[in-house]
Amino acid sequence: MGQVRRLVYRGRSARLVQSVKGGRQLTKATWDLPRTLGALRNSAFSEDRIGGRSVKDELRNNLIRKLQCPTPLFPGIVGYEETVVPQMVNAILSRHNFILLGLRGQAKTRLIRMLTTLLDEFSPYVEGCEIHDHPYRPICRRCRNLIQEEGDDTPIAYLTAEHRYVEKLATPDVTIADMIGDIDPIKAARRGQDISDELTVHYGLLPRANRGIFAINELPDLAGKIQVGLFNIMQEGDVQIKGYPVRLPLDLMLVFTANPEDYTARGKIITPLKDRIGSEIRTHYPVTLDQGMAITEQEAWLERAFPESAPIEVRVPVYIKEIVEQLVFLAREDKRVDKRSGVSQRLPISVLENVVSNAERRALKSKEQVAVPRVLDIYSALPSITGKMELEYEGELKGGDTVARELIRLAVGKVYDKYFEGANVSQIVQWFDIGGTLKLDEGQDAAAMVNALGSIQGLMEKLKTLKLSANEPDAVRASAAEFVLEGLYAHRRISRNEEREFGAGERKRESPREEGPPQRPNLRRQYN
Ligand SMILES: [Zn+2]
Repeated sequence: MGQVRRLVYRGRSARLVQSVKGGRQLTKATWDLPRTLGALRNSAFSEDRIGGRSVKDELRNNLIRKLQCPTPLFPGIVGYEETVVPQMVNAILSRHNFILLGLRGQAKTRLIRMLTTLLDEFSPYVEGCEIHDHPYRPICRRCRNLIQEEGDDTPIAYLTAEHRYVEKLATPDVTIADMIGDIDPIKAARRGQDISDELTVHYGLLPRANRGIFAINELPDLAGKIQVGLFNIMQEGDVQIKGYPVRLPLDLMLVFTANPEDYTARGKIITPLKDRIGSEIRTHYPVTLDQGMAITEQEAWLERAFPESAPIEVRVPVYIKEIVEQLVFLAREDKRVDKRSGVSQRLPISVLENVVSNAERRALKSKEQVAVPRVLDIYSALPSITGKMELEYEGELKGGDTVARELIRLAVGKVYDKYFEGANVSQIVQWFDIGGTLKLDEGQDAAAMVNALGSIQGLMEKLKTLKLSANEPDAVRASAAEFVLEGLYAHRRISRNEEREFGAGERKRESPREEGPPQRPNLRRQYN
């Protein structure tokens, strides 16, 4: 491929021009590619080089070349370097069709789409062919006839790598006609052709993906009949359409995705099809909090643009990112959350985006230059949490909102411990114990909040632990101090009511009798 690329780009800038066919965007460089079969034979696309090469050979060859370079194979894929990627590499080197088994939000589709980076940049085909016939090995009757008549003048067109990728979400209503094709009896009658003649076939998705990668998401949702059709194509290149045998020796790399539980469920996948899938590769959620945070940070939309009239700087404290990620790790382990469907990595991504938006909204309202998310903003992001967790019966009884709130609180507690475990916070707790209360409003501007928080003895000094100095903007200090209070609330050292008012911890407010088993001396004293 290196050779082709050099040939194509020599001294030219790749300007976008409209191609003749199908309105596809091809680069200017493609105009310099050989346009006839004769020219093709004498180019870098010689019969020697690509004549006998299948899609799987092409992927393998390009992969081998990439493995010799130090650059990462799938840039942007975090946490799979030691697990999923090596297995995928092995599958491609083995020229296998493969399946990625994993729960939702594990970047399965994204990984599969990246396979296009292993395809040649341009791939020649017989111009006008619906199934992108190989110029040296055409399988359709039309192209075989055309090459016979035109010979070296047969026109050649090109596919880019992206155009050689077809993806289909399997649903139970997908038909053979959608997937493989249909026979048009009227067309056959008009042309006086035999009904089983290939010229009367209206091609489905699979033949149209010929010479490329065909991906089927959620394979177990595909009806058994379609699975049989798929198997026949993979096995023999033969398929029955409406009872007529049609021969389609397609050249494809087939990749699938599925939820592991659906895939292994008896009867969901026909055995011969399972047999033809060379490798089963398990994907997984990030193993460490750091990996999760790296993915979330990469995917979440945090670098936002503002109009000149409201230039706002968004600063997301690390502890906020940690709480958001921790929340997802806790949700994945929580017994109230359905394990079979999992908790997608899209959850922390949307939560963090919502958290930033809430801080943005507050900054705009109070005309502040710096927007800093607070723990409170995570609670405000409930709409991006509840829809992404499937609850078990126990969770349903409690309600999505309650479960989500409890998870946030637990996450805050864990992250708080990371910074403040063993820290002496008795002064702060005491302030509340002797009757101090503090109500924090969601819309409250940073200066007013710092002022209010400053009245709590010992609180602002604690921010040193978060490596904050007194010179930080109010918004940063307000968020940090609120995090400390939320942490104390998570550990029930202080309380917080529905109106977001912090007060004394539950133990202090309740009568001493409830602290342990009732004790006689206490009672007696009361009556004294
Ligand atoms: Zn053709």
